[in-house]
Amino acid sequence: MNRITFLGTGTSQGIPMIGCGCYVCKSGDPKDNRLRTSALIEYEGFKILIDCGPDFRQQMLRSGTTDLDAVILTHQHKDHTGGMDDIRAFNYFRREAFPIYAEKKVQESLKMEYSYAFSDNKYPGVPQYNLITIDENPFLITKKNADGTLSSIEAVPIRVLHYKLPILGFRIGSLAYITDASYIPPAEFDKLKNLDIFVLNTARREKHISHFCLSEALEVIRKVGARRNFLTHLSHQIGTHAELAADLPPGTEPAYDGLVCEF
Ligand SMILES: [Zn+2]
Ligand SMILES: [Zn+2]
Ligand SMILES: [Zn+2]
Repeated sequence: MNRITFLGTGTSQGIPMIGCGCYVCKSGDPKDNRLRTSALIEYEGFKILIDCGPDFRQQMLRSGTTDLDAVILTHQHKDHTGGMDDIRAFNYFRREAFPIYAEKKVQESLKMEYSYAFSDNKYPGVPQYNLITIDENPFLITKKNADGTLSSIEAVPIRVLHYKLPILGFRIGSLAYITDASYIPPAEFDKLKNLDIFVLNTARREKHISHFCLSEALEVIRKVGARRNFLTHLSHQIGTHAELAADLPPGTEPAYDGLVCEF
């Protein structure tokens, strides 16, 4: 069975936010503890991580994930790339550079943020990345099987805007995952047909410059018409998990850390 595990569902500061005493940050409901947004997709025998934020290490340990086949990155912001140093663990066990699928401009940002991993004379033990360039076209994620043969799955990028920054969402099979979007061009909706699961970001109820607010996200969800919809990248301003869940139409739920859903 294919499935998604939500490893983190919080906005860039996570919930609780450092120093915040609001009722959401102080909530005793474990569903109100949100690490930075990331998801593990298990599809046709592949384990794909979407985004590798600052909570990556904790998310791997907490979910009991001991191997991954690839990381695919939506964009270069730190809440989606801040955990890349800890890829070292997978280098150690796999004894090879780890495949990272990212757009060219995301790669340029990684080369600045993790310059020590790209220098000519590398310090022993630095992370080793195998950067694989993607763009708006469908691409294959490939892995070597135990018997030496190769297998691959297809991922379909979805171009969205994060304020003015063009970033990517991804469709894998009947699941689509879009985070940090504030606009989806009309042509991209063709890639979002016949979905079992649609994951979309929303930060809060009030309008936001770089993320869909709740009413905008619900409008996109209505247009897409997937069987099940999950909201992610949630901030403390949107209220508690229970409050948000009560306000959503049938078929749409707030995601929470640790939620697993099959497709
Ligand atoms: Zn983000
Ligand atoms: Zn708060
Ligand atoms: Zn972002």
